[in-house]
Amino acid sequence: MNHRRVSLPENARIGELDAEVATLDGRRIEASTRVSDLEREQKQADQDVELVKTRRARNEERLNSGAVTNPKDLEGLQHEIVALDRRIGTLEDAELEVMEALEEAQGRLDEVVKALEELRVQHDEVAARRDTALGEIDAELSDAEAGRGALAARVPDDLLALYEKLRANQGGVGAALLRAKRCEGCRLELNGADLRELSQAPDDEVLRCPECSRILVRTSESGL
Ligand SMILES: [Zn+2]
Repeated sequence: MNHRRVSLPENARIGELDAEVATLDGRRIEASTRVSDLEREQKQADQDVELVKTRRARNEERLNSGAVTNPKDLEGLQHEIVALDRRIGTLEDAELEVMEALEEAQGRLDEVVKALEELRVQHDEVAARRDTALGEIDAELSDAEAGRGALAARVPDDLLALYEKLRANQGGVGAALLRAKRCEGCRLELNGADLRELSQAPDDEVLRCPECSRILVRTSESGL
């Protein structure tokens, strides 16, 4: 029963899903970092554009105010405005690129988060199935234990003690059927001399396997 508990196929599936979740979570962290980086870059790009635009507006104001009359200064201002316009264009292109990259990165992050959610739902479903299976095994186990308890109550104390001792020493199996001359505990076939001896034993005598010393249970199929 314990073997069945451990070897449930759901356990293996849960292990696989855990590994997939871990991998995907790594990708989620990467994607999320990329989004944060690009958000910071976008903010910086916005500020860069704003800074140059403010400067251009100031120059234009000075130009239109009539305060600058020297032709050389006026020409200088006009040249600077043209240069600032070029700079604004370049910065806005860069800003656009960052925005596009951010949108792409956000899309990837959304995909990973969605896949991760689906994986977790799957994980929960398998875990629920496993818990149901475990519950069934536990119920069978307690049925078997109840049955064993009822049986043990009818077995003489010394025989029960022998059985318990053998069970502890022989990997959980204290008694075995003798079937077709073979002990079903150790799977060894008994030799002719041993079989003859067993066949002559009275019905109420407790027989033991000469090979593994487990209690042998005789049936019509024992081959005696
Ligand atoms: Zn045996």
